[in-house]
Amino acid sequence: MKNKIKQKVFSGIRATGQLHLGNYLGAVKGMLALQETHDCIFSVVDLHTITTPYDPDSLQNSILEIAIDYLAAGLDPKKCKIEVQSFVPEHIELAYLLSTIYPVSRLQQLPTYKDKTLQHPKYQNMGLLFYPILMAADILLYKTELVPAGVDQEPHIEVTREIARKFNAMFGETFPEVKRMETVGEYVPSLLGTGKMSKSVPGSYINLADSPDVIYEKMSKAKTDSGPQSKMSKLPEEGAVANLFKIFGLFDVKRAKVFESQYLEGSIKYMEMKETLAEVIIEVLQPIREKRNDLERNKEYVKKILLEGSIEARHEAKINLNEVKQKMGLI
Ligand code: ADP
Repeated sequence: MKNKIKQKVFSGIRATGQLHLGNYLGAVKGMLALQETHDCIFSVVDLHTITTPYDPDSLQNSILEIAIDYLAAGLDPKKCKIEVQSFVPEHIELAYLLSTIYPVSRLQQLPTYKDKTLQHPKYQNMGLLFYPILMAADILLYKTELVPAGVDQEPHIEVTREIARKFNAMFGETFPEVKRMETVGEYVPSLLGTGKMSKSVPGSYINLADSPDVIYEKMSKAKTDSGPQSKMSKLPEEGAVANLFKIFGLFDVKRAKVFESQYLEGSIKYMEMKETLAEVIIEVLQPIREKRNDLERNKEYVKKILLEGSIEARHEAKINLNEVKQKMGLI
């Protein structure tokens, strides 16, 4: 039988807090599926973390918290490599090299750059503008073909494709065409009624580590509306209630349908729906939370996984970076 070379996969999450349901459904579930069949490197992208306000004293702990979430959710170091981005300085070196072939004007137009500068008007920095170049380097460093990530990352992945194509045209075929893995959970809406669930928007999210009490409480505060006054001809397409139906459907289609029918009949009780949804989420998160508690007590083990994963990833990174430098005439 032919020995088939596995496709390369890379994805990363910033160390800006614990993982929430959006990160889990949009990125981690894809990672879990791909670790079974692909050659995967998953990263805690600490260098991206420092582009928005953060506390240096707690950064190391935040990095460990993401790694704990990864492992608790089911990433298995025997099936994938888990690295810390800054342990592999080749990410930065490749980012600099790639920055020399990409226009500044394109970076200024990207939605994440605009959003983040609006969110942190006093924290506008070169690193934030440079973010998509570093992200392209993260992906291309391992000659990645597939990225499990949420739909919000699509513009950055497009930048990665543009850079790869330009590099290949200027210096010879080097990087493959990268694609985002599309999934049903690629856009998990906020509990607040507008926008996506995000770590940087308080009230918008439920964390994988949240206790049942916290989940009930957050869900009870989730926005709804005044409710259907009579029979409805269709389900809402946008807004707070549409968001809750969407989240429900991502966890349990069957039970979601019961409440959707009640909505159409005009008999829905939102409080009841929110309690049931909280129960469903608690059930799904239970094993993750238990594993998480064990790992919290065993941080030395988590550090060892990160160190070993980073050393292995760095080995690959050095080979690919050398090829890039040779092609660019630097060695
Ligand atoms: P956040 O926006 O909460 O800070 P990150 O920017 O660190 O999250 O994103 C980490 C991963 O999680 C990315 O792949 C991103 O696309 C995914 N992700 C984040 N929020 C969501 C969401 N609400 N729905 C689906 N995927 C998401």
